[in-house]
Amino acid sequence: MSSVNDILTVIQQHRIRFVRFIWCDNANVIRAKAVRTTFIQDYLDGDGVGIAAAQQALPVMYDALSPGSGLTPAGEAHMRADWSTFAPLPYAAGHARVLTDIYDGDRPWVHCPRSFLRRMIARAADHGLQVFAAFENEFSLLRPSESGPQPFDTTVFCQTWALDQAAPIINAITDALEAQGLQVEMTYPESGPGQFELPVRYADALRAADNQIVFRETVKAVAHQHGALASFVPKIYPDKAGNGAHLHFSLQRDGRSLVVEPERPHQLTAEMRAFMAGILHHLPALMALTTPSTNSFKRIRPRFWSGAYTCWGIGNREAALRAPQPSAGRPITNIELKTSDATANPYLALGALIAAGLDGIERGLALGDPVDGDPADLSDEERHKRGIQQLPSALGEAIAALERDDVLLDALGSSLAQSYLAVRRAEWEAMRTMSHDEEVRLLLERY
Ligand code: GLU
Ligand code: MG
Repeated sequence: MSSVNDILTVIQQHRIRFVRFIWCDNANVIRAKAVRTTFIQDYLDGDGVGIAAAQQALPVMYDALSPGSGLTPAGEAHMRADWSTFAPLPYAAGHARVLTDIYDGDRPWVHCPRSFLRRMIARAADHGLQVFAAFENEFSLLRPSESGPQPFDTTVFCQTWALDQAAPIINAITDALEAQGLQVEMTYPESGPGQFELPVRYADALRAADNQIVFRETVKAVAHQHGALASFVPKIYPDKAGNGAHLHFSLQRDGRSLVVEPERPHQLTAEMRAFMAGILHHLPALMALTTPSTNSFKRIRPRFWSGAYTCWGIGNREAALRAPQPSAGRPITNIELKTSDATANPYLALGALIAAGLDGIERGLALGDPVDGDPADLSDEERHKRGIQQLPSALGEAIAALERDDVLLDALGSSLAQSYLAVRRAEWEAMRTMSHDEEVRLLLERY
């Protein structure tokens, strides 16, 4: 929806009191300032809602500046609504929301994550490429109890008893997502306690990242209306399956898929292979953006189907990059990065994935052979011969890899790279020695 009249009509029809101007910061906390609709006219033609520039220096733990971010308590940036994303909130009567690009005067702010993704989409377009994507989320439902939140169920993978218990919540989430234009494709109980998956349809890259914000907001809010807590924290229960947000992507040129060769449904194109090789090459650094919390690294473990090795495979759930295996005779339509979770700011994660992939194309990087079976079962020597590495096992290593990765740093630009790394370093320093319980307690409601 973008015409001014349409927006004003919806505001009237739904008796909207407040429009939330939403942004997602470097720590991936989703935040909003809500404008009273009596004054909305002022914001319809591009006037922005001000936020302190220091917002991009806040770590997940508390509202205080991370050292070395390059940002200070002085300075203001302005959120400008992208009115094409405006929607009434089905779970908060009287409220609507709009997603925003953050501006510094007349120019997109150098620290704005959504503007970063726009830049990477434009870079892909310079290669004649359009990027499509979807975040495939897993999340945990918990019930409050006097001894703290307890898992909603203790069922195993796809056990129907979990669906029976959660059907009212899953139905309400689905209705709320669909009312906001997302298309729910499926649902099933995942392996972990109270764990569910609810994949949504792919979209162009910017819309896919926007959808991820809408998805997280909606799942948490609707679960709360049903007396449950929904959390995207990657590893809540140390010895059980974690919550991934697998990042599915595909490329097109002139509206035609570039994933596989025409008439050869399993033969990836040279460009797709190079794009994937770029992602694998940069993956240790990319993880600082796609699996960026201290907790993320507890999920990335061999034998948990979370993508712990730099390799790819067809239908291989232990490879970081998986080509989902199509039915007989059908083409591969997309590739999935498993090394990704919902503690990632979706604009930064997807933008950095595009930057890594384009680097693979520009440098003509070669993709190795697909791996069949579990890479953890190969000997060290075999993995070494095939160029397969185990990925970083802690946030500190991924931060160090990003600090050395000129391609990703250059794509982010020096200011965003500085504020982003400052936030991650602050989180790593503050949380590296936390007990698991303390860490989960801190993150459970943030994500
Ligand atoms: N829960 C697994 C993860 O941590 C993924 C399981 C699956 O393949 O869907 O990513
Ligand atoms: Mg899953």
